[in-house]
Amino acid sequence: MKTGERLSIKIIRKIVFVSIILICLLTIGVKASRSDINYVTIVFPEDYEITVMTSCVSVSDILSENHIIVLPDEVVYPREDSNIDNTKTITISKANEEKIVVAEEVENISTEELLGKYVTITEKIITEQVEIPYETITKDVSSVGTETKDTVLQEGEKGLKEIKYKVKYQDDVEIERNVISETVIKEPVDRIIQISTKIVSRSRNRSETYSAATLEASVEGMTPKVVTLNTSAYCACAKCTGKTNGITSSGAKAKEWYTVAAGSGYPIGTVIYIPALANKPNGGWFVVEDRGGAISNNRIDIYMGSHQSAIQFGRKNLECYIYQ
Ligand SMILES: [Zn+2]
Repeated sequence: MKTGERLSIKIIRKIVFVSIILICLLTIGVKASRSDINYVTIVFPEDYEITVMTSCVSVSDILSENHIIVLPDEVVYPREDSNIDNTKTITISKANEEKIVVAEEVENISTEELLGKYVTITEKIITEQVEIPYETITKDVSSVGTETKDTVLQEGEKGLKEIKYKVKYQDDVEIERNVISETVIKEPVDRIIQISTKIVSRSRNRSETYSAATLEASVEGMTPKVVTLNTSAYCACAKCTGKTNGITSSGAKAKEWYTVAAGSGYPIGTVIYIPALANKPNGGWFVVEDRGGAISNNRIDIYMGSHQSAIQFGRKNLECYIYQ
């Protein structure tokens, strides 16, 4: 082999070696450029989305690269003349949809709600004068010998107090009221009544109104004690009583045939029925209204209208029904 041929083979080997290195470098370069490729998500108005692989960074480039045409009523974010941001998302939405959403939100607030925010609540301090009722106090001074009547010792007078309220109004309608203070301007004056109830002795009461019928009725249901008493009669004369006014020991005016004087064993007011005298004006009904110094418990004296009658009656033992 000639020396010149060996030289050219060396040169060819060098060229092939350099070429291989160049190819390797190119391959590395392509691989390096691949690291600029991004995965970008494109969101469409109907919430449909796609993810594309791209080496572009301009929004308009990415869209045209994927044959996506933005319609006149659509808006793009980020804007078409800008680059994609860190979210690597391009959102396409209908421009008028956003407006509609805003409008609906406004409509959702009702007129009442809107008005409610402007309802005026006002507070006022109100002073009212209120009457304080008086109380009625009764004094019982019941006793024998006084008439039954109520005497007003002191007239009652209503008091007066001032009450302060804090009143809340909502559009002039009262919605709340609280008492702040109460001041008594005038204390009430009690009405004092003296009650004088006549203590009713049965005899006194009867002396004016009784009759055989009422006496009988007054002892209805009572069981009498039956005794035999020595019965005599008397009148209002000085001989019989030592006085002439006919007023009995009980204070009642003696009533002919009804009034009897009896011993202390028979209380004033005791009703006595004597069957043997049932044909007399009193129907046999008597009431103990009087006493007498000489009258013991086994004796009674019947009051008569005249001394003559009393004498005539005499003295006899009679069966008596004692109601007490
Ligand atoms: Zn007499």
